[in-house]
Amino acid sequence: MHLEPNYWKIEFSKLPSYGKQYPPDASMRFRCLNMRDLKYLSGMNPNNAHDMVNDLVKRVLVLDNMELSDVLAMDRLSIIFYIRTNTFMLSNGYQTEFTCPFCGARVRSDFKMSDLHVKRITESKLGTCRVEGIDEEISSVYKKFYDPVHRTGDPEVDDILNWTNIDQILRGTDSEMKDAVEGLLAPDYAKLRRLANDAKCGILSYADLSCTQCRRELRVGVNISDDNLFNKVRMYTMIKNQIQVSKYCGIVLTDDMPYNEVELTIGIVNELSKKEAEAMQKGKK
Ligand SMILES: [Zn+2]
Repeated sequence: MHLEPNYWKIEFSKLPSYGKQYPPDASMRFRCLNMRDLKYLSGMNPNNAHDMVNDLVKRVLVLDNMELSDVLAMDRLSIIFYIRTNTFMLSNGYQTEFTCPFCGARVRSDFKMSDLHVKRITESKLGTCRVEGIDEEISSVYKKFYDPVHRTGDPEVDDILNWTNIDQILRGTDSEMKDAVEGLLAPDYAKLRRLANDAKCGILSYADLSCTQCRRELRVGVNISDDNLFNKVRMYTMIKNQIQVSKYCGIVLTDDMPYNEVELTIGIVNELSKKEAEAMQKGKK
C-alpha cells in the first residue's frame, strides 16, 4: 500500500530571501523524511554530504511554478531546517561544545534553530570591486541551489568564493582558487572580504548561548554543515525499532512511514510495554 504523504507549505516570508526573487505565483511545500530517506542518510560522510542532502531536498520538496535550480542558496539551509525540525519532533535540538572564554569550562550546550542568527536579504548589499591582477570586475552574487559550494578549509576564503563571482573568473579547483585569493595584495583581499560579507545572508553559523558553569552569555560559532545537520539515526537502531514494534504490537513500521510518526509510535509502544510490565509486577505481589 502506498499512501500519498502530507505536504506542508513553507511561507516565503519565513525565508531569508522572502521569496522576492521567485515568480509571484510560485510556492513551496515539503514532506517529512521517512524511514527510507533516513536509511539513505545513514551512508553520509563529510565528502558526500552536500550531494546527499541535495538529493533529499529534491525528494521531499514540491515546487509549483519554479524549479529547484531557481532556489537561492541562502534559502537552502532554512528549507533543510524546516524538514529537519518537522521530521525529528522529539529530538530536534542541536548540541555544540565550546570552551568558555570567561571561566575556561568545557561546555556542552543545546541550541535550537531559532537561536541561530539570520541575516535577511534586506540587510544584504550587492556590489562590485576591482583588484590588481584580475582584469574583470568582480561582483557579489546570490548563488543558486545547484551552484558549487566551495570548501577550502578557510572560512574567509570560502565566503569570498561562495558570495562573489570570482570562482567563475578564476575557474580552478578549490585549492587553486584559495591560493589565488590568498596571493592577492592585502588591501585587495580586504576589499573582496568586505564585498562577500556585505552580500552574505541566510542562517549564520553562530548563536548566543550561555555558559553552563559561570552563566555568562557569549557568542558561539556552531557547525551547521550538511553532515552535521541530521541526527545520525543508525541503520541498526532503525531496523531494531522496526522489528521491536512489530513484535510487540503487530504494527509494521514501513519505510514509507514519516519518521515523526515512527518516533511517536516507538515512544508510545515503549510507554505501553513499561506500563504492562509494571502491572504484571503488581499482580505478582
Ligand atoms: Zn563560563
